[in-house]
Amino acid sequence: MKPTKSSARSRAEHEADEFVKRARAEGLRSRASYKLLEVDARFGLLAQGMTVVDLGAAPGGWSQVAAEKSLANSAKSKAGKTNRQGQVISVDLLPMAPLPGVTCIQGDFTEQPVLDKLLAELDGQKADLVISDMAPNLSGIRQIDQPQAVYLVELALEFAELALCRGGKLLAKAFEGEGIDALRAEFRSRFGSMNNVKPRASRPKSREVYLLGKDYLG
Ligand code: SAM
Repeated sequence: MKPTKSSARSRAEHEADEFVKRARAEGLRSRASYKLLEVDARFGLLAQGMTVVDLGAAPGGWSQVAAEKSLANSAKSKAGKTNRQGQVISVDLLPMAPLPGVTCIQGDFTEQPVLDKLLAELDGQKADLVISDMAPNLSGIRQIDQPQAVYLVELALEFAELALCRGGKLLAKAFEGEGIDALRAEFRSRFGSMNNVKPRASRPKSREVYLLGKDYLG
C-alpha cells in the first residue's frame, strides 16, 4: 500500500526524533525509556532490590530500565549491598519479547483473570513501585479517548490500593482534559505528596502528562 502524505510525514518525524535515535544507539527498546529515566533522575523512583510492576509495558522500554536499576546483579549482591533480589513484573495486551529477569504477563489489565495472574506473581508480596504507561488505542476523538484514558489511571490507582506497600510510589500516564483534576485529587488523598511531570521525551504537542504519587499512605 502506498504511504499517505501524513503517514510519510509521521514516519520522517519519528526517524528524526532525538530520543528515537538515542534509544537505537543505546540499545533501549523504546524512546519511552527516557521518560522513566528522567522521572527517576528527578524523583528517585528506582533502587536495587525493589519490586516493580509495569502496566502497559510493551515493547519493554520501561521494564528494561526498571530491571537494570532494581534487579540485583550477582556482583552487587556479593558485595553485600542488598539482600533483596528485586522483581519486575510486566503486563501488556501485546506480546513482549522476553527481558532477563522480567516476568511478562500478556493480557488485558482491565480483566480480572489478568489481575489475578499479576497478584499470583506477587505471591503476597507488596510492590515498592507501580508504573503505568498504559494508553488506550487513540481514536483521535477526545470524547472517546479521554474517559478511556482516565479509566486506565483509575484502575492503576485501584491496583495500587491492593498491591502497593506503604510508602510506595505510583507513576501513571494521564492526559490533560476532563477528569484529570479528579485523578489528581485521588492521588493527593492516597499519597503523602504528588507531582505532575512532563518529561522532555514526552512530545510537547501531546496532552500526555505523568502523575506521580509518592509515599503511599496505605
Ligand atoms: N512504557 C512502554 C515502553 O517503555 O516501551 C510503552 C507503553 S505504550 C505507550 C502503551 C501500552 O499500553 C501499549 O503497549 C498497550 O498495548 C498497553 N495497554 C493499553 N491498554 C492496556 C490494557 N488494558 N491492558 C494491558 N496493556 C494495555
